[in-house]
Amino acid sequence: MPPVSRFQKQKINTFDSFLEFANGGKEPGWPQEIILEMGNVCNLKCEMCPKVLMPHFQHQQPQFTDLGLLKPPFASVLPYALTVQLVGCGEPTLHPQFFSYLDYLSDFEVLIDFYTNGMQLDRQFCDSVVSRRVFSVTVSFSGSTPAQYENIYRGGKFDQVLKGMKLLGQAKQRYRSPFPLLIVNSISFQRHVDTLCDFIDLMADQGVQRIQLSNLVAFTDNPTIHDQIAVCRTWKESKILQKAKERAARAGICLDTSRFENAPVQSKTLVKSAREQFNLTRSNQTHARATKAQMDCLEPYIQFACSKDMETKPCCFMYHEVSFGNLNFQSVQELWQNPRWKGFRKRILTTPVPSFCETCVRIKNRITNHHVHEKYKDYSEWFEFNFGKPFYPAAKERIETLPDSEKIVEKRIALTMSTPSKRSSGEPNGFQKALSSFQETHPLERTPFPAQPALNN
Ligand code: SF4
Ligand code: SF4
Repeated sequence: MPPVSRFQKQKINTFDSFLEFANGGKEPGWPQEIILEMGNVCNLKCEMCPKVLMPHFQHQQPQFTDLGLLKPPFASVLPYALTVQLVGCGEPTLHPQFFSYLDYLSDFEVLIDFYTNGMQLDRQFCDSVVSRRVFSVTVSFSGSTPAQYENIYRGGKFDQVLKGMKLLGQAKQRYRSPFPLLIVNSISFQRHVDTLCDFIDLMADQGVQRIQLSNLVAFTDNPTIHDQIAVCRTWKESKILQKAKERAARAGICLDTSRFENAPVQSKTLVKSAREQFNLTRSNQTHARATKAQMDCLEPYIQFACSKDMETKPCCFMYHEVSFGNLNFQSVQELWQNPRWKGFRKRILTTPVPSFCETCVRIKNRITNHHVHEKYKDYSEWFEFNFGKPFYPAAKERIETLPDSEKIVEKRIALTMSTPSKRSSGEPNGFQKALSSFQETHPLERTPFPAQPALNN
């Protein structure tokens, strides 16, 4: 007999709440996605890691996030949360309480995903992960030869990580489970993008199901990193991607290159500036373009991120050192509903973009798709496998026909303002004036929060 679900009703409420919001109703009552930073300890020294490249990371003391401290502020939202991602500017699986985290979160029927460099994936570890109903494991891996990989992931062992991926597949077979999905996050180093087709073949051999190509971001003016940033030239990388997608489709792998393709480069004269957008030490010249970008990102309506110091922010892609409140003093639910968080959610719908989002927008990393369709599909499959019954079939059609993020934003703006066409005119309208006044009376704290925890991971 499969176990009985305790939180199906709450998860249904979360989807309903987003559907209502997308149709112009009130804001979602809970975050769908929780991002938890597990600590800053790692067993590698990767070439692109902020820990290696940024001085303030180098001076941090080793630290793990205390599970005991996290439980009280998260207790009321975890029944409603759909996914929890365990990340960190460090290796989450080194956390001494790693499996206690999985046990605790698994009780709330959330889709657990964790990032890893894959060095810990031995038989016992894989069995422990599969038996805890983890939804997906995201392995950081770039390069299709030992030399390529080990040059990037310094201290990492190409063969060991590949073997670990296979062991995970074998553990799934032993438990007769399709979960966890094996996902690979790879980084757009030029040499990696150049050999992406070989990489797809290699990953197919290990049983990888999804691959995402993330942008390499340089936190340093060190030319060694800067010169390795690949950009999406229409006459070169676009063609490689096309071939790679065909190979991935043949192998049954879902290949997501959308972030990398977000900024196509049409001419040779634009390559230098396109590359510099991804270099945080050189990208100020593109500031004006970023602030005029139309916002179509709904992450602050979806996400809640918490650092190892219990500092919080509405999106883990904010590069600024900022906290929107500390969970030692308030619960997640209190923060989610407080004026500072609500004010930020309103601000993200307008131009210019909030200052905390400028870097993300500039480097074209912003999330332009709310992905609720995919989340519904993932949650339904995982739920049905674990609890032996359908999750929420009545919502299928409404979720599949949900408009994209841009249309949802347009609709909300139109409903809020009397003259929607003023949105991008440059003239502040009543809505924007009210927001400016709100911002003056509710300044955001600038307390330390680490740069994007999963960045370049
Ligand atoms: S990128 Fe990830 S695996 Fe590599 S050193 Fe940094 S935290 Fe560790
Ligand atoms: S624009 Fe970027 S930083 Fe801002 S909320 Fe969206 S993803 Fe996060």
